[in-house]
Amino acid sequence: MANDNRVALVSGANKGIGLEIARQLAQAGLRVVIGARDEGRARAAVDDLASQGLVAQSVRLDLDDEESIMGAAATIAAEHGRLDVLVNNAGIFDFADGPPSTASLAAVRRVIDTNFLGALAVTQAMLPLLRAAPTGRIVNLSSSLGSLAGNGDPTSSYYSQRFIGYNASKAALNMLTVQLHEELRDTPVVVNSVSPGFVKTDLTGYGTMTPEEGAKLPVHYALGGEESGRFVEPGGETPW
Ligand code: NAP
Repeated sequence: MANDNRVALVSGANKGIGLEIARQLAQAGLRVVIGARDEGRARAAVDDLASQGLVAQSVRLDLDDEESIMGAAATIAAEHGRLDVLVNNAGIFDFADGPPSTASLAAVRRVIDTNFLGALAVTQAMLPLLRAAPTGRIVNLSSSLGSLAGNGDPTSSYYSQRFIGYNASKAALNMLTVQLHEELRDTPVVVNSVSPGFVKTDLTGYGTMTPEEGAKLPVHYALGGEESGRFVEPGGETPW
């Protein structure tokens, strides 16, 4: 295992792509903090990594609960004094979502609340800690479904996937990437939107990649490079 002193927080790291991101960052030697809204599920994830000889700690982090977000930031500040890597991974999909004409408004609200406002709240809470790191890195788990260009291009493979809530939540997350990148231009903090690919997890139950494969690109951006303000997927650059 590499020896790396960096501290990384992964939200929604108790399962799916987030758990695999946590595993791969721990394998790279980082000090990983598993963010999870349920303490039992967080403990199970820590135990899972421990069974492979990997050390991780957990913190309660519910994107829909501001108090838990502020509490997580306070815990990381007290224990580490900084945060080198923030992976905004936690997210939801709702089967009551759908095309603009028929999607359930309640579902759209839920999805945007968690996927966009939740990620924004976590980012704001962690930013002072990221600024305290030598090179803070933010990876926003976006989706190619958030590409405005793809949604309006009949030749795009994402064209027919009309989920107004989910797709808009990821387009909004991309706006966070763009604006934060510009705001932090003169700082060492970098921020990117990474689409993991089409990964079979509990999110929808569908996918062609394993969570382990889906974690690779987010981990690449979490670990290094000076690139910032990009939107990428496993095949390369994604059109905004
Ligand atoms: P997943 O297996 O369903 O995992 C989602 C994770 O997010 C779980 O740990 C879940 O925790 C957590 N979460 C949901 N709402 C939360 C909240 N309010 N507060 C804290 N944690 C919360 O899904 P996944 O496929 O790994 O998705 C991870 C990320 O990748 C998401 O942002 C998703 O949009 C994105 N993504 C996935 C795909 C894909 O093909 N799977 C494609 C593009 C982008 P609980 O266990 O407590 O529910």
